[in-house]
This record gives sequence, structure tokens and C-alpha cells, in this order.
Amino acid sequence: LHTFIKLNPTLLGKERIRNILKQLNFDTNVPDAAFEHDITYDAAQNVIRSLQQIARTNNLFFGVKLTNTLESLNHKQVFSDEAMYMSGKALHPISINVARIVRNDFPDLPISFCAGVNALNIADVLACGLRPVTVCSDILKPGGYARLLQYPEYIEANATLRKTDAAAYLNRYADSVTKNQLYQARWKNIKTDRILSEFDCIAAPCVTTCPSNQQVPDYMYWTAEGDLPQAFETILRTNPFPSVTGMVCDHLCQTKCTRINYDNALLIRDVKRYVAENVIYRELEAPEENGKHVAIIGAGPSGLSCAYFLRLAGFAVDVYETKAFPGGMLADAIPLFRLSEEALNGDIERIKTLGVKIHTNAKIDSIAFEKIRRESDYLYIAVGAQKSLGVSIPGDNVKTGLLDPLEFLSAVRRGQAIELGRNIVILGGGNTAMDAARTARRLSGKEGRVSIVYRRTRREMPADADEVEAALAEGIKLIELAAPAEILSESGKVTALRCFKMKLGQPDESGRARPEKIPGIEFTVTTDTIIPAFGQQRVVDFVDEKLLEISNQDTRETQIPNVYIGGDAFRGAATVIKAIADGRKTAEAIIEKANLNNGFSPLKPIDKKLSHEELHLKRSRITPGIHPDNSTLRNLDYFSLSERTLTESEAVAESKRCLYCDQLCDICVTVCPNRANVSYTVEPFEMRTQTAAFKKDEIQIFDDKIFKIEQSNQVLNIEDFCNECGNCTTFCPTSGAPYRDKPKVALTEKSFQAMEKGYFLNKGVLYYKENDVVSSLRESEKGFVFLSPDVDAELDSAFTIKTVEIKNRDIKWNTAIAIKMKIIGDAVRDLYER
Ligand SMILES: Cc1cc2nc3c(=O)[nH]c(=O)nc-3n(C[C@H](O)[C@H](O)[C@H](O)COP(=O)(O)OP(=O)(O)OC[C@H]3O[C@@H](n4cnc5c(N)ncnc54)[C@H](O)[C@@H]3O)c2cc1C
Ligand code: SF4
Ligand code: SF4
Ligand code: SF4
Repeated sequence: LHTFIKLNPTLLGKERIRNILKQLNFDTNVPDAAFEHDITYDAAQNVIRSLQQIARTNNLFFGVKLTNTLESLNHKQVFSDEAMYMSGKALHPISINVARIVRNDFPDLPISFCAGVNALNIADVLACGLRPVTVCSDILKPGGYARLLQYPEYIEANATLRKTDAAAYLNRYADSVTKNQLYQARWKNIKTDRILSEFDCIAAPCVTTCPSNQQVPDYMYWTAEGDLPQAFETILRTNPFPSVTGMVCDHLCQTKCTRINYDNALLIRDVKRYVAENVIYRELEAPEENGKHVAIIGAGPSGLSCAYFLRLAGFAVDVYETKAFPGGMLADAIPLFRLSEEALNGDIERIKTLGVKIHTNAKIDSIAFEKIRRESDYLYIAVGAQKSLGVSIPGDNVKTGLLDPLEFLSAVRRGQAIELGRNIVILGGGNTAMDAARTARRLSGKEGRVSIVYRRTRREMPADADEVEAALAEGIKLIELAAPAEILSESGKVTALRCFKMKLGQPDESGRARPEKIPGIEFTVTTDTIIPAFGQQRVVDFVDEKLLEISNQDTRETQIPNVYIGGDAFRGAATVIKAIADGRKTAEAIIEKANLNNGFSPLKPIDKKLSHEELHLKRSRITPGIHPDNSTLRNLDYFSLSERTLTESEAVAESKRCLYCDQLCDICVTVCPNRANVSYTVEPFEMRTQTAAFKKDEIQIFDDKIFKIEQSNQVLNIEDFCNECGNCTTFCPTSGAPYRDKPKVALTEKSFQAMEKGYFLNKGVLYYKENDVVSSLRESEKGFVFLSPDVDAELDSAFTIKTVEIKNRDIKWNTAIAIKMKIIGDAVRDLYER
């Protein structure tokens, strides 16, 4: 027979495969066993030669197909097996390198290719002389089969490639692909904590992940339209620090951007910075005062955010700040090469212009606390976490050379001269450690040597990945898996740090691998200065700590009525946007408590007026974004920003990549290989439900919760088509599993009988089964008839109960189930008619 044999990627050998994975930042662990039970490349060459010979003799076709999936240790929580099989993105560079060695040894051998092919690389793969090309993992990603539409475009656009020498091209491509940003394992998992609901599941993951729920798709839309004032106002609705967050936000939103499963995450933070720096903005008008007064302790981002939203709602606000200037850590710790004074001052000025009064040099002690409490209706404690956690090891009483990171960063910001020496060691892996290290790098000059000692590995570092990357790019050395053991000194001055060598153990409560000492292995780092940056804790000396315990988790109101706490003072050292979000949410809680809520929600997305087809078309296309190169800016000048702003064309192009995930999702529909998830439309509505229950000997009917459908696009799962492969769960941006959590519909009586919970439409009657109880809903002349073993009811067309018989006196029957059955019944009917 004419034959292709499929080869395994293990042919490339342990070392080469592991090097490629490391180079691309994948934490995939390919065990030795994967190589042991596979044929080696030497042996494979003999097999190929012999099969080639047999094929020639018998006048048959013979070729190889690259490659199979690659066995790796299971580090995901999806399957229980110890091993799993790696395919897609990571396999592409590996398999291309297998193709290279096979091509170089067998110039005439037909090689078919299938690893991680997509629209972007199809032209390259063809130019490498690999064919036929098959595609699998690409069409199992969001966009699904529609992704294929883009292939011919790229093939045509790169038609000239086909004229190049294929073997030479393959060799070049194999080298370049391992350096390509698009194959980097940058983002781990796009799933969010959001609960998956039966209906109305569409939400933009960037919005749900942002602690302040900023309406990212809206300001992407306005930026793409070139309307910067609208973009800016959208940002301000949930965040009064656009310029600051445009520079230093830890941008959790980007870690869950739907674009990750296409190409790369949108540069959301950079677009925000572009908007903030380029907008011509109309000042907000200070509203009339509403007669209520709020005192805020701490003029950091949290206190000022709360002040801003309260002032906008008409409250009189006084903010008290210990230091001589507002801004908290933004003004006193975050270095000027990351956050410019202009950006910070611009954001603070806008807040002041609204009429927020900031009192500096005004430390609140216990007497002042009682006073401001008496004078205000509400009080917000936003004092941050001001005390550094020091290092507690032998030698920590040394006089010179052991610095507090906050004092160090503050002194440098104020322009004070600090003697660090040539060798500086920073302890810790968080943002403060990175800033201390990068600042020290700038101060110690070309000859200086700055090292970060961290007890886990780079992967587990809590610092923003971009900050770690920047620190390393600036020449800072990372000493991983090392814990400080002793500070060595001479004449009261630090000379070296003795360290324990660590290894990673089982995950701890934080989910990160626990660092464990390797007995007997120690080493010493020579150093002039040690800066331990292990985080901060709050210092509250004006009120009994016990009274600050939270009485209401949602509002963070403390044991003292009308006194709230938030930001780092509540969370411990966290992030700017969390502090801002706490400030906003506290303001909302106060507005609510003061009964001044006017019903305005900053979280309602705008209708972007894109048709269903346009939204789907966007979802079928790969459109890689830019990766700004900041290397030329890293001139190690403390005052110059180390990252540049996007240009207008970059910002517009980047924002146009947004998929507007708040308007449509359908990811589970497009990724299902079996077409088991189906979307249907519903006209949004809301309806008051009713509950019927026995009270004494009579059935009473009372109005109950509102049932509403807010989105017109909904999803159901067809039981008969679903083989529970879990692909929709992998890509659904919620914590749920669409095939399990969405309404399940059986197409046949047999499958309805076999399913545990779900719907079935038969001869115009919709059946619903749950816990082995089957109910039915059929339309009548005047409305609906609902029948079940426990309840028989007649409902009018608005689902108001006309008559009801309750056969089981213990139950309460709510009409919501009948409303849901009507929705699903209509959806299934539509499906049959399609
Ligand atoms: C070096 C460093 C780098 C960082 N980098 C980033 C980053 O890149 N991205 C990011 O998102 N986050 C970063 N953070 C964290 C971020 O700065 C904080 O999470 C944020 O500033 C917390 O805001 P806050 O308002 O709660 O507290 P703070 O910013 O600490 O502000 C609290 C304010 O309260 C004042 N105060 C304290 N006690 C009193 C009192 N008794 N009376 C009156 N005033 C008082 C303090 O002086 C201070 O000004 C960094 C933090 C540090 C230290
Ligand atoms: S594509 Fe746009 S809406 Fe979707 S997650 Fe990314 S930024 Fe948010
Ligand atoms: S689990 Fe079911 S619905 Fe989800 S992708 Fe697999 S077959 Fe489709
Ligand atoms: S993937 Fe499906 S179930 Fe998940 S949010 Fe999107 S539409 Fe809803």
C-alpha cells in the first residue's frame, strides 16, 4: 500500500526538546520514559531507509508524517492520568525541528506536517516543502472551523515564499521559530473564577478579572474609533488613575484576554496609557454637596479613589495624609523610571479639582481619629501597608549595608545620595524587590553587580512578569532556589550573604511549590548592601486592631459602624488597581448606605453596534499584536521612563484587535468538534415569578424573585452529540464546564431516559427531568399547562398562576422552572426548523 508513517517528536532527542521548551518558557516536563519507549533517531533512519527501499522496489509511495503528540507529565487539573499529550503551539517549533533533521538526511522523502499549524504559519510550512499539511488543534480553538477562512489569504499573500529553496527555508524557519514571541508560553490559563450560569453567560474576561471591572472593551472600541475623550471618560467611570494605571497596573486583565487563544493578549495597559497621554479632556464638574461628609485616612490610590467617587456623588470629602505629599506608594516608592511625576500629578490634580480636600502632614493618631469620626458621617481607613517585613537571620543586627526597601526607594525618589557599594543583593521576588533591584542597578553604575536572591524559581515569583523580564534585561542576576541563611560582616559592615540552596517541593496553600532546603548545600554571595524585600504590613496605631475586623465582607465595613477599610491596609501589600477598586467599592457602599444611589451603573457595556456576523468574523481571525521593544530606553537613567507609549497607529491597531467579548462569546460553540454546543437567541425580558405553597390547609400564591434574561445570545448543549471531551471547558472563560452547566437537550426519548438532568421536546410538549422527576410544559389556548408528580398548574401567557394543585404539601413551587422550559422549548423548536 502507499504509505505515510507518523513519527514521534521524541526523535529530536531529550536535550534538544527540553532546550526548545525552556527557550519558549514552557513548564512542560517531558519525562525520560517518553524517550525510553520510543525509537531513537539513529534507529529511525534505518527504518526510513529500509521502507524507502521497499517502496521503490514495489513502485509504491512512501512518506513520513510529522508528528505525533508528545508525552509529558500532567501538570493540569483537567485529567487525572499521570501523563498527558502535548499538541498545538508548543509542538510546532519541536516538530519543525524534527522536519529539519529528517529533511537534511532524506532530501527526497515526502514529509507531511501537522503540528500547531495555523493561518500565520501555513505559508511558512508550505514554503518548507512540507505537504500535505493537516490541521487539528487550530480548529479546536475559539473560532473553530472558521479559522480556516484565513489560510488561503496568508498563502496567497506569501506566494513568493513558494519559489524559495524549500530545504534552505526549512533550516532558516526552524531556527527562527524557536525565537518567535508567538510560540512563547506567556500565559498559563485563561479560565477565570466567574461562575458559569445556565443563561446570560457572556462577559468579557478582562472586565471580570480587573479588580475594578474596568470596561475594557468599551474603551478599546472608542480608541479604535479615534474618540479618545469617550475612551478616557469610560476609564474614569471605574478608575480615577488612568495615567498611573496606564504605566504601572499589574494588568491582570491581559492574563485572561481571549486573544491569548488566537495570538497574543491585547496590550490593554498600553492602550490606556496612550489614551491618558493623548486625550484632550473636558474637566469634570464638581457637583453640589449633598450634606454628607466623609473623612478618609491615607492619600494613597485607595483613599483618593474613594474620595473621587464620593465627591462625584456630592459628598464633602476630607483626606488626611501623614506625609507632606499625596499619592502613597505611588509618590514615595514606585521609581520614577516606571511612573512619571507628570502622570501621577495629573491624576491627583483631577481629583483635587473636583473639590476633594487633601490635608498633608496630617498624621491621624487616636485623638485625631476620634475627632474626625465625630465630625464625619462615614470614615474610610486607607493607610496602606507601611512597614517592611525585615529579614530575621543571624547577622541581621549589622549596622551598615542592610537597608529597608521602602526607605531606600523613598530616599532615591527624593534625590538623597545613598551609598550602596558595587555589589548589591536584593532578597525576595515581588514588585518591591524588582524596583529595589532596578533602582540599585541604576545607582551602582556600569561596574555595579545587582543580584536578586529568591527561594523559588522565576516562574513562582509574585512580581509582575514584565517587571521580572525588565530586571533581567537590565543585567540584574537572578539567583533562584536560594534562601538567606546569614549576613556576614566585618567591623559592622555587610560583606557577604550566606545562602541555603533550595529545591521545590509540593504546592503550599498559595498553590505555589513549597521551597525546601537541600541539606548540606550552602553558598556565599559577596555583597556590600543587602535589601530584604519580603512585603509589607499595615501599621494602625490610632484604633484598636480588633475593631478593624470586618463585619460585612461585601462592603468591608469594620466593627465600628460607618467605618470602612480597604486597599493595602486591608489586603496587605497588594496592587494599585486593587486599592483603587476597594476605594470605588467603598464609595458605592457609602452611597448605598446613605440612600443616595441614583441607579447609575458604571459597569453596563455600551452596544458597539456590530452585527452577529461581524463579531463572529472577528472571532475567526488571528491578528497578532505588537510587542514594543523598549531596549533602547533601558539606558539606566533613574529619571527616564523605561517603557515607551504606543504611537497612534499602534494604539488604534491594538484596540481594533479587541473581540468585544462583552457582546458575544460562543467560544464553546466554535470549539466543539461535535457541534454539541449550540447557540440560540432569546428576546431579553424580565418577569416576576410566583411561588405556590401550602400554608396551613390552603395553597397560597405570592410574588417572588424576578426572572430575567438580559442577553439575546444563549447556549444549550445537545446531549446526543456530546462525548464529554472537555474541550469547551478548556476554553470557556468561566470556571465552569459548558457541556455540564448549560441546559442539556436530548434529541431522542432514549437519550432523555439515559440523562440525569435535561430537556426533551416531543410532539410539542417540553419535558424536563431532574432527580428522576419528569415535568412537562405544553401551550394551551390561554397560556401554559405545567404537569409534574408534585404539581399541576395552569398559567397565563405572562406565567401568572391561574390554577394550581400541589400534590406534595412539603414543596414550594416556583414558576421560574416553567419559564425556563418555555425558553428551551422555543430554542429546540427553532433548532429543528433551522
Ligand atoms: C516598591 C513598590 C512597587 C510597587 N509597584 C507596583 C506596581 O508596579 N503595580 C501595582 O499595581 N502595585 C505596585 N505596588 C503596590 C501599590 O503601590 C500598593 O498596593 C498601593 O499603593 C496601595 O494603595 P493604598 O492606598 O492602599 O496604600 P498606600 O499607597 O500605601 O497609601 C497609604 C497612605 O496612607 C498614609 N497613612 C498611613 N498611616 C496614616 C495615618 N495614620 N494618618 C494619615 N495618613 C496615613 C501613608 O502615608 C500613605 O500615603 C508597589 C508597591 C511598592 C512598595
Ligand atoms: S479581546 Fe477585548 S474584550 Fe476580549 S478579553 Fe481581550 S481586551 Fe477584553
Ligand atoms: S465536552 Fe461535549 S460539548 Fe464540550 S467540546 Fe466536547 S463534545 Fe463538545
Ligand atoms: S464559552 Fe460558552 S458557556 Fe462559556 S461563557 Fe462562552 S458562551 Fe458561555
